[in-house]
Amino acid sequence: MSTAAEPSPGELLAARREQLLREAGVAESRLSDIRSTRAGGSDDDEHDPEGETLSAQWSQAEGLRAGLVDELAQLDRALDRVADGTYGSCVRCGRPIGAERLVARPTAELCIDCARIVEARR
Ligand SMILES: [Zn+2]
Repeated sequence: MSTAAEPSPGELLAARREQLLREAGVAESRLSDIRSTRAGGSDDDEHDPEGETLSAQWSQAEGLRAGLVDELAQLDRALDRVADGTYGSCVRCGRPIGAERLVARPTAELCIDCARIVEARR
């Protein structure tokens, strides 16, 4: 592999997407593990020390999956922008988002100025 050429934004996003899909698969199988453990467990909830632990594991896995689904949606939008040539431009003001910001947040849709304005309005 050559180190001379930097990967394009599209390649980086596609690689990140692959990774997210794998992580989502792990989160999904963890959820189904917990689901089957629950189904096979005793009905004696009050005296089941595992009950609360499973609930905590469940909400953690659910939160993880929700975050991954959200990031995948952002990645898909970013890949759409790569495809139509608008990637790297702010969707609000049209100015370049800035290389450093894109490295830190490859799915950024807003330049730092617009992000601050939008954030301040929340
Ligand atoms: Zn902007």
